[in-house]
Amino acid sequence: MSRGTEAVARARKAFETGRSKCLEHRIRQLKNMQRLFSERQTEIAEAMKKDLNKSDVGTQLYEILGLEGELNTAISKLKEWAAPRPVEKNLLTLSDTVYVHPEPLGVVLIIGAWNYPWAVTIQPLIGAIAAGNAAVIKPSEVCVHTAKVMEELLPLYIDKELYPVVTGGVPETQELLRQRFDHIFYTGSSPVGKVIMEAAAKNLTPVTLELGGKSPCYIDKSCDITVACRRITWGKYTNCGQTCIAPDYILCEPSIQDRVIAEVKKAVKEFYTENPKTCSDYGRIINQRHFKRILALMEGSSVAAGGDHDESDCYIAPTILRDVKPDAKVMQEEIFGPLLPIISISDVDEAIKFINQREKPLALYVFSQDDKLIKKMRDETSSGGLLANDCLVHYSVNSLPFGGVGNSGMGCYHGKFTFDQLSHHRSCLIKQLKMEGVNSMRYPPHTLKKLGW
Ligand code: NAD
Repeated sequence: MSRGTEAVARARKAFETGRSKCLEHRIRQLKNMQRLFSERQTEIAEAMKKDLNKSDVGTQLYEILGLEGELNTAISKLKEWAAPRPVEKNLLTLSDTVYVHPEPLGVVLIIGAWNYPWAVTIQPLIGAIAAGNAAVIKPSEVCVHTAKVMEELLPLYIDKELYPVVTGGVPETQELLRQRFDHIFYTGSSPVGKVIMEAAAKNLTPVTLELGGKSPCYIDKSCDITVACRRITWGKYTNCGQTCIAPDYILCEPSIQDRVIAEVKKAVKEFYTENPKTCSDYGRIINQRHFKRILALMEGSSVAAGGDHDESDCYIAPTILRDVKPDAKVMQEEIFGPLLPIISISDVDEAIKFINQREKPLALYVFSQDDKLIKKMRDETSSGGLLANDCLVHYSVNSLPFGGVGNSGMGCYHGKFTFDQLSHHRSCLIKQLKMEGVNSMRYPPHTLKKLGW
């Protein structure tokens, strides 16, 4: 039996003991995870530095802070979330008890991506534990050091039978996918999302797919372009562009293109100095394969700023591409790197048409001072999330569901949404064996007289 198969069997057996359902057990696990993040900051930060050149502060800010917030919310709200929810009654159920009872699904498989390896792997785990499930955790093999730290640390803090970590690459993931799960929670690319869904279909296993895509960013010429560009620069070049909700490309009128370029350049200098290569806040491309892929995307487009790179260090400078054609190479796939193409459109209607001709994105950004324009963008397009006048930060609002639509994914999570996503909402109707008389009209023989007609 492979390690993965064994881990799934053990998790299933542990789930069958019923201990993951106990509220005290769930809260204890979540508190143990809080302890992990406060005691093991150094190991976590060192691995992140090696994997993605993330600074200690960057790791704390973009990975751990959000998880701590999710843990606090889950711990304080769990009793409320897990309680039966009474629902409205009708005439026939007036004297009955009618409620929805959240119950765990069983054994959940969590497959994580590498770009924010803690956030995208542990956040679903928090919800899986809160909802009373067992969970098999498969961190991305691409973040070699972080996967190892997760494999070593998690069993020291949480129930290792119920929540085993299985490391490995594609063959190990495929082996896992041959097992039967009660839910698969996958974060990664859209093409692999299809592989996951196909494997899940064999057992009718429900899936949550947190995928990616090209998130557009529309800048209205009447907005404060300086502030808009600072926020876009941050959203784009954080983690070297390797963020699922990074603004992928800019849509704006030709009259403001030069301003946009100048303001983004200015913000890049402010955030990452004259030489981002030596700046501790500027990351690296995860590996040579992605480095080559991103460089190749620049072919055929004019570089307005940046463009320099160093293969030995997987460094690509913050880069702006101007007058990019819709059929350019860089517009054919999610960039997932520090290239910012600018595409000229004549007005907001053309921007909307441009967006609607493509797959539904994970995020849609609109910068405008005009509320009507923002509403128009909202009403005439579709995307996982919409954020006006900022980038990325909707991810951190855990009262908002986070997830994609269409090609950018299905299902959602964060806060209570993760709990709900990984629970079965069982409908319960509890009647008494009394008042049998009122049922007489539903029993045969059916006569008009019985119905009073
Ligand atoms: P990926 O799809 O290559 O890998 C993710 C996971 O899938 C890894 O654990 C890997 O082992 C596994 N995997 C890869 N190929 C497989 C195959 N053929 N069969 C079975 N398993 C396989 O994605 P990635 O490169 O790690 O991440 C980048 C993508 O993830 C981007 O598209 C990004 O937008 C997306 N992403 C989305 C979110 C979100 O919340 N929606 C968050 C982070 C990343």
